[in-house]
Amino acid sequence: MNIKVLQINENILAENDRIAKEITEKLKKYNILSFNLMGSPGAGKTKILEQLISGFGNKFLCGVIEGDVAGTFDSQRLKKFDVPIVQINTGGGCHLEAFMIKKGLDQLPLEKIKILFVENVGNLICPAEFQLGIEKNIVVSSTTEGDDKPAKNPLMFKISHLCILNKIDILDPETFDIKRFTSYVKETNPYLEIISASAKTGKNIDKIITKLFELYNIK
Ligand code: MG
Ligand code: ZN
Repeated sequence: MNIKVLQINENILAENDRIAKEITEKLKKYNILSFNLMGSPGAGKTKILEQLISGFGNKFLCGVIEGDVAGTFDSQRLKKFDVPIVQINTGGGCHLEAFMIKKGLDQLPLEKIKILFVENVGNLICPAEFQLGIEKNIVVSSTTEGDDKPAKNPLMFKISHLCILNKIDILDPETFDIKRFTSYVKETNPYLEIISASAKTGKNIDKIITKLFELYNIK
């Protein structure tokens, strides 16, 4: 008898990439700048997002897709801003997939939104493997994590267009060597710019905002 082997993984990824392309096209059509925030749990993705949204103020309407395994904790934190938010619960899944973003976009007023932020599930591994059609990837690291994270999770840093090193205000040189961190980042992705910042104090949030536009060649 013939044995049929189904390459489930490949098929799933191919289907995911097809939907991701659709999403990119859609965002282009609506002239939306899009950013996918990724990083470990506790790196400060939501806090950075709060600062960015408040930094953009009324000038540009931001839209947010919040990805979490369960709950609406992060969305609740963003409720104080007058921005459209969609919460996606993956129901145990440790990353977002393109079909989830597609559904999320259906719930957002795309004709009004200028900037779309996706906050991925807190995880440095598989979010890097699933394209979402979101054009720019941002990895949020923090000084409370190991400075060897880029060496341990190279793919995440390879696919990113910007690295935010958060919690610079509480940097402890005994436990976090910023030179070491930088050299690991540059080893995996020589072009990746690192911006040290503090979502808590607001330090360098303005630099990040400038960089977000630069990533789209907007000065
Ligand atoms: Mg969060
Ligand atoms: Zn996953």
